[in-house]
Amino acid sequence: MKNLNVFVFFAYLLIFTSCERDQILEPPTSATTSEEIGVKFTPEPQLDTKAAIGSKVMMQAFYWDVPAGGIWWGTVSNKIPAWSSAGIDAIWLPPVSKAQNGPFSMGYDPFDYYDFGNYNQMGSTETRFGSKTELQSLISTAHANNISVIADIVINHNSGGDLESNIFTGTETYTNYTPASGLFNRTQYDFHPNDFHGNDSGAFGGFADLCHDKTYVQDWLWNNPNSVAKYYKDVMGFDGWRFDYVKGFEPWVVNNWISAVGGFSVGEYWDGNAATLEGWANSANSSAFDFACYYRMRDAFEGNDLSILETGDMLWKRSPTRAVTFVTNHDTDEIYNGKLLAYAYILTHEGYPTLFYQDYEEYLDKDKLNNLVWIHNNKAGGSTTILYSDTDEYIAKRNGAPGLIVYINNSNSWLERWVSTGWNNTLIKDYTGNSNWEPYTQGDGWVKIQVPPKSYSIWSAK
Ligand code: ZN
Ligand code: ZN
Ligand code: ZN
Repeated sequence: MKNLNVFVFFAYLLIFTSCERDQILEPPTSATTSEEIGVKFTPEPQLDTKAAIGSKVMMQAFYWDVPAGGIWWGTVSNKIPAWSSAGIDAIWLPPVSKAQNGPFSMGYDPFDYYDFGNYNQMGSTETRFGSKTELQSLISTAHANNISVIADIVINHNSGGDLESNIFTGTETYTNYTPASGLFNRTQYDFHPNDFHGNDSGAFGGFADLCHDKTYVQDWLWNNPNSVAKYYKDVMGFDGWRFDYVKGFEPWVVNNWISAVGGFSVGEYWDGNAATLEGWANSANSSAFDFACYYRMRDAFEGNDLSILETGDMLWKRSPTRAVTFVTNHDTDEIYNGKLLAYAYILTHEGYPTLFYQDYEEYLDKDKLNNLVWIHNNKAGGSTTILYSDTDEYIAKRNGAPGLIVYINNSNSWLERWVSTGWNNTLIKDYTGNSNWEPYTQGDGWVKIQVPPKSYSIWSAK
């Protein structure tokens, strides 16, 4: 109950800041009294103060080779209040446990899943990102700001084991793991090939490829009270999972993990085929990063043919609640000139959109991204109808209430076009401020909207 006042305070803060943001674009409509808030936010005993992951916008809170030296958790912590105010509902952290490359590793060569920067091994006590205490403080700060935390789970492969004589290969292999935490020791029996079979669906480079078919491995990954999944959830406080390189093992692994501990889940199935992504997501009972959307956007914006946004197959079009959309991530960054337009696309369309740390904090206009996040969180509801597309323009409508119409222009001149809105005799405006028009729709819903060169406009009832 101690958190009740904190919650009401943050609820008030969120309402107040979104009203303030709104006032940048329009005059205030009505004052919100604290009595109204008290009524509206009477919490249920079991109420989770965090918004459900996926209802707003995710922040990928790292990029490749963030500054080393154990300062990253602190850097992210300092950003969290601003991200919360902007409308972020979850942050995705890089793998948090000690990896073979110790203080230099980005975490994708995992050695000891229970060393969060608190055991002196692999060349350091802290990880590249900081200490266990700093990580715990970051997670607490996120939760206090109503932001969920997504752990990056690397379970296809391991790295950093000692050499042992391997009876399955007849050679010496680095498959003897005795981590300092004393938890989840592994041997050749837990990797491929072994006494169960020769391989699973994929290995990553020359890394030791973990065998999820072994009961011992399943116990340590998600079944035991001390398993990685339960420890990360119950002890460390993680709320969701991002599974690395899921092409390297079968989808039932993620499915079993989710069955054991629940939580939001998204898989990195690096494939541009939307049907393949949908098949994986359904088998894994998990969301998937929408690489199909990513590649169609790349082709549309870099190849100067926005009609691909209409014709292209994407995961969000097949399965909107299973699609996590993105413009850039730590592995790939191929959308350059049209990057802000691509963000306007994912933040107005279905799917759970992700902001990439460097795009938000360094490369793009933060005010424009904040505006798009606000539009996503307040206007972008309901199903999608594509109203028009050709090589240099694209217009789509979100059919919810209040809904919106987004007009993207990849040409070098102002464009305008008549569209059917569904709003009759209604004053509408461009919530981005990129256009100053405030037209009335006709009695039949038709209206002419406009968009500046190499830009976008997003219309909704004023
Ligand atoms: Zn196996
Ligand atoms: Zn594998
Ligand atoms: Zn055109």
